[in-house]
Amino acid sequence: MQQMVKTQAKNQEIGSIPAKTASILLPLMLDKSYSYKIPSDIDLKIGDIVEVNLGHKKSVGIVWELEADTKIATDKLKPINSKLEHIPNIGKSTIDFINWVSKYTMSPLGMVLKMSFATMTKAKPSVRKTKNQKILCENIRYKEIELSSEQAEAASKLAEVINVDKYQCCLLDGVTGSGKTEVYFRSIADAIALNNDAQILVLLPEIALVQQFIDRFKERFGTVPAVWHSGITPAKRRNIWKSVAVGKTKLVVGARSALFLPFKNLRLIVVDEEHEKSYKQEEGGAIYNARDMAIARANIEDAPIILASATPALESIVNAKSGKYKHIILKGRYGEAKMPKILAIDMRNNPPPERQSFLSVPVREKLKENIKLGEQSLLFLNRRGYAPLTLCRNCGYRLECPACSAWLVKHKKYDQLQCHHCGYGMKLPDKCPECEAEDSLAFCGPGVERIEEEVKNFLPEAKTLILSSDITNSEKKLKEALDKITTQEIDVIIGTQLVAKGHHFPKLTFVAVVDADLGLEGGDLRVAETTYQIIQQVAGRAGREKELGEVYLQSYMPDTPVMKSIVNSNRDEFLKIEIAARKATGMPPFGRLASLIISSKNEVLLDDFCQYLVSVAPRYEKTAILGPAIAPIAIIRNNHRRRFLIKATKDVNIQKLISAWLGLAKKPSQIKLKIDIDPYSFF
Ligand code: ADP
Ligand code: ZN
Repeated sequence: MQQMVKTQAKNQEIGSIPAKTASILLPLMLDKSYSYKIPSDIDLKIGDIVEVNLGHKKSVGIVWELEADTKIATDKLKPINSKLEHIPNIGKSTIDFINWVSKYTMSPLGMVLKMSFATMTKAKPSVRKTKNQKILCENIRYKEIELSSEQAEAASKLAEVINVDKYQCCLLDGVTGSGKTEVYFRSIADAIALNNDAQILVLLPEIALVQQFIDRFKERFGTVPAVWHSGITPAKRRNIWKSVAVGKTKLVVGARSALFLPFKNLRLIVVDEEHEKSYKQEEGGAIYNARDMAIARANIEDAPIILASATPALESIVNAKSGKYKHIILKGRYGEAKMPKILAIDMRNNPPPERQSFLSVPVREKLKENIKLGEQSLLFLNRRGYAPLTLCRNCGYRLECPACSAWLVKHKKYDQLQCHHCGYGMKLPDKCPECEAEDSLAFCGPGVERIEEEVKNFLPEAKTLILSSDITNSEKKLKEALDKITTQEIDVIIGTQLVAKGHHFPKLTFVAVVDADLGLEGGDLRVAETTYQIIQQVAGRAGREKELGEVYLQSYMPDTPVMKSIVNSNRDEFLKIEIAARKATGMPPFGRLASLIISSKNEVLLDDFCQYLVSVAPRYEKTAILGPAIAPIAIIRNNHRRRFLIKATKDVNIQKLISAWLGLAKKPSQIKLKIDIDPYSFF
């Protein structure tokens, strides 16, 4: 995110003249607020919650602006029905933040409000007294622990920022297991010590990490924070929302949507695992990166923010190097734990011993040895299911989704072929749908289920467990799985990227990356970076306690500069290569990007519209508009898809440019258009 524009809540000072009308913003797919007449017996402030009539429906909205006199004849306006006294005012900074997000992401204001407001739209006050008193009064007491000298130094650098109590972004850049969590816990304690009314928000990239976090938090602070994510009950949501709005709840931990809570006095934000791509929200009303929006919110609140990661995003590193962020580095692991040894297994010299098997002999030997030693191993493969492709040996036909241009993935667990883009599923047919040959369908390539099968074949005594979103698809199942690992009921974990995230498995000493080349194929901007991060993160799971961990990377191209820098854990070298490449091509963070994704069931109409956009596209030397291109996944759910990529130098206001451009074309209603500022995915 390159641009930091501050918007102010408009017009809260209108002197002594009582406001006659109010603009009310409703949490709907609308980009503007509507004027209503204020009845004389209602006293309103900006940010108050009111009920109004919209068409024939009652709707709950927010007082966005107040006007003393209006050009619209007041008597033509509908009156506001009532002010909802039981819901607290959302406050100026939340209003500023909603305005800012809407502008930056080019999403309708009403949609952004909806993210902040969704659960409050019930107009009736709840009669029942809230059961969750616990979350309303937190008794926070930080239990000091002794920090290592490196940690103490990091904590005191952060304390300097916390004590100034102004906006400053800090990058807490420390290897896996260096104790970043302990360090920022100290910062949280410092922020509370400075201001007893301070509210603190910790963002995590994944709900799956929340429970572990709460346990640790409780141990350190003697109380649990309020938890906010899409899975909590509406009653709890309403409760937390109100309690945050009046400033009673001091600590919130949550997924990206927690950022939109109406904090009354937010004094510190922590974004843990800041590099995680899951911070990018790509579905729904607004497309945004929660890490970047967190920085914007901290800026609006004039509060410090800590970004923590073992493998920071390239953008963050560049900002830290340039001095825009304060760079705080933890070089070593805490205590006796050492960084694991990483070794590339050249698959050209170590082919897997059987046909359609995927693990090399060195990996197999290491797994056997580890079981004998009673230690745990992890096989990492970022592919769900059993096999990514099913084809006919007779005619070569590949089984594809009927609604998307994507192959169907074989899943053993569901006994099905599934589309990972639309969720379509079908039974495996008895014969080839194309040539009707019988028993001719063969599975190609591995998914985690197939790797488990292979392990069971050469190591029947191994107790295995798959950690992927299919198997551990609820909080409860995930917790059970994690418990099994911690209590050592499991010898070999086979996991997707779900395992790369912040888990601490004490007995894990060996990690093999089944296909280290996997991330390096494909054309998106951040593949090398993502591969580097995932491998470092997965490697970071090994040897977190006393035993030295080992990591094997199976690769067919171990000699490429990128793979070499990964194997040598040579981050400086890796960054040098990657930063040079981005600079040379004017890619982020050295330039700006935005995508338009335009889709329709009607392909002719779609192409006409895209051609029209081309004909009215701005020609401006600092901007390149590429496209329309047929999207790499050309069809999803029967919608044909086209993409434009807008590339600009950093000084260009890309939002303004896009909005002027799109203003020239009237979009037919059968066409959907999504704007993605700072895109992460390019399919
Ligand atoms: P990171 O977040 O950098 O991966 P953690 O904060 O999870 O690292 O720390 C790794 C492990 O080391 C955890 O089990 C943590 O409790 C322990 N640890 C870190 N610092 C200390 C400390 N100062 N005293 C005791 N244990 C610590
Ligand atoms: Zn599909």
